[in-house]
Amino acid sequence: MTSPTRPTRLNLTALAQAGAPLAGQAILADLPRLAADVPDHALATAPVSYRATAEWRANAGADPKLWLHLQAQAEVPLSCQRCLAPAAQAVEVDQWFRFVATEAEAEAQDDEAEEDLLVLEPQFDLLALLEDELLMALPLVPMHEQCPSLPSFQAGEAELPPEDAKPHPFAALAQLKKKGH
Ligand SMILES: [Zn+2]
Repeated sequence: MTSPTRPTRLNLTALAQAGAPLAGQAILADLPRLAADVPDHALATAPVSYRATAEWRANAGADPKLWLHLQAQAEVPLSCQRCLAPAAQAVEVDQWFRFVATEAEAEAQDDEAEEDLLVLEPQFDLLALLEDELLMALPLVPMHEQCPSLPSFQAGEAELPPEDAKPHPFAALAQLKKKGH
């Protein structure tokens, strides 16, 4: 299943002129590189919401530059690296991009620019950019905050014997030292 609106050939100049954000929803199956990490393919229909805003910004002494703001949210079902059960990882993207004319220009300015630089193409693949950004936002080691199938150590604490039932380890050590002399 593929969602009907796939923003793979987007005219960003037209989007900037329209002045309204492009908001939509894809599914994980639309993003094969991201879906490849998803162990349970039945869950590849999980939604990915995105919102893209393009705008022209004045540039001192030169032509205005085209900027793109991409925001996205998704819940990616990955395997927990502690208990191996499925663990949905909430992933968010909130990133600004500035467009330049050529790859060489992007490389030349990349070091000093805080924003990410992209080469402006007449048909821009927003879906591919969305996938790149979501992949970078994924946790390196996906994990439950608290694994459902592991024993809870905190619950066992109340059953420990009272503090004075056994000697404090440092007190016992002090006793040993005394005996040694
Ligand atoms: Zn877990």
